[in-house]
Amino acid sequence: MSFDVIVLGAGLWGSACARHLAEMGAKVALVGPAEPDNAATHDGVFASHYDQARISRRLDNSPDWALFANAALRRYTEIETLGGRKFFHKVGALMAGPETGTGSDYMRDTAVVAQAEGIEHEALRGGALRERFPFFDFPDGILGLFEKDAGWINPRAHVAAEIGAGVANGVMLLRDEVVEVEDIGNGVTVRCATGETLQADKVVVAGGAFSKAPGLLAEPVPLQVYARTVAFLEIDKAETERLKEMPSVVYFFPNGEGDCYILPPVRYPDGKTYLKIGGDPTDVELTTVAEMKDWFRGDGDTKAAAYMAEQLFKLMPDLASKGVIHNSCATSFTPRGNPLIYGQTERVFALTGGNGAGAKCADEIGRLGALMVMGQSLDDEGYSTTFEP
Ligand SMILES: Cc1cc2nc3c(=O)[nH]c(=O)nc-3n(C[C@H](O)[C@H](O)[C@H](O)COP(=O)(O)OP(=O)(O)OC[C@H]3O[C@@H](n4cnc5c(N)ncnc54)[C@H](O)[C@@H]3O)c2cc1C
Repeated sequence: MSFDVIVLGAGLWGSACARHLAEMGAKVALVGPAEPDNAATHDGVFASHYDQARISRRLDNSPDWALFANAALRRYTEIETLGGRKFFHKVGALMAGPETGTGSDYMRDTAVVAQAEGIEHEALRGGALRERFPFFDFPDGILGLFEKDAGWINPRAHVAAEIGAGVANGVMLLRDEVVEVEDIGNGVTVRCATGETLQADKVVVAGGAFSKAPGLLAEPVPLQVYARTVAFLEIDKAETERLKEMPSVVYFFPNGEGDCYILPPVRYPDGKTYLKIGGDPTDVELTTVAEMKDWFRGDGDTKAAAYMAEQLFKLMPDLASKGVIHNSCATSFTPRGNPLIYGQTERVFALTGGNGAGAKCADEIGRLGALMVMGQSLDDEGYSTTFEP
């Protein structure tokens, strides 16, 4: 089978890129496995979007990441309609942290970006912050920037919507794992684990952390992949009701003593409702594919989960939780903190490097990837970052 473009990786960025490529008129194959039924025994690749919730907000200390998010958020309703899946929950997002002194840089820079980019928000302090969000016990000196048109997305549903919209527009979806990409001069050959072989003019490698795997890209991509644990605190019906006005939260602790992010009550496929907290303080780098797979097969680190649960109880002392479980994930960082969207050869392109922030803006990153593959410059898209390593 032969295509204009093969997109490797049916995750957040690959599914968006494939949809945009098809809209631009390309004949596209999207190749990637579905989520495994049982992570513990799975032998193949994993993804960083196997979860029910990712924070979605424009407020950011980086102008470019704020703009990526802004562009994507504006298209959520359209993607939900085209793909037939709702994924955005507009519960608001609160960025909080010290307004002055040690650890105040993030809030200061975020306020500057919000002002410069005209991101609608409310600034809350002291009594006003407590009154607005009575379930949080922020210490004195904390500034809260609240963006009401933000919230969280279900990343699985986002992927499903992008795939649905892409397939409706001619994208061929192949549930397979790519084991080798070969640039054959006048095209590329993509070999899959099942033995299937596809040909195309170009290939986009959007394999998340697994874009590092040998045999896919023309040259190694400079991603640093870190193991991350996330903790889930189960809550009952009454607690879910009490917290029904809770927004998504990113919180920088006083005195620069770390940070965390918190998702409001979200119902999971096991039928239970959880608050999720991330902000794993342990930085364990995963350097090989074998290390990544081993980490994803497990459920994360118990100590890191206990630490994060403790932070959550400090912020929400009245929280009535039925217990804590945890899981593993991985975050891919790039040398400059920018997403990598670049051609390594005329035919082989990299689209990876979420830097812990790539879920909410997946549709915009995918669109930029599609433009690049179609031979268009990204210089006039309004971003100041380079998309190269
Ligand atoms: C714990 C955690 C919390 C996060 N929270 C947020 C948040 O609140 N907000 C936010 O915006 N972002 C968040 N992120 C970041 C976000 O999830 C990632 O940036 C995003 O998943 C990156 O998308 P991706 O498509 O590059 O990678 P992925 O989502 O990992 O998708 C990669 C896809 O490639 C496929 N693949 C890999 N190798 C192959 C192969 N050889 N052949 C075929 N397919 C292959 C995989 O199966 C997968 O589907 C978080 C990340 C983590 C780990």
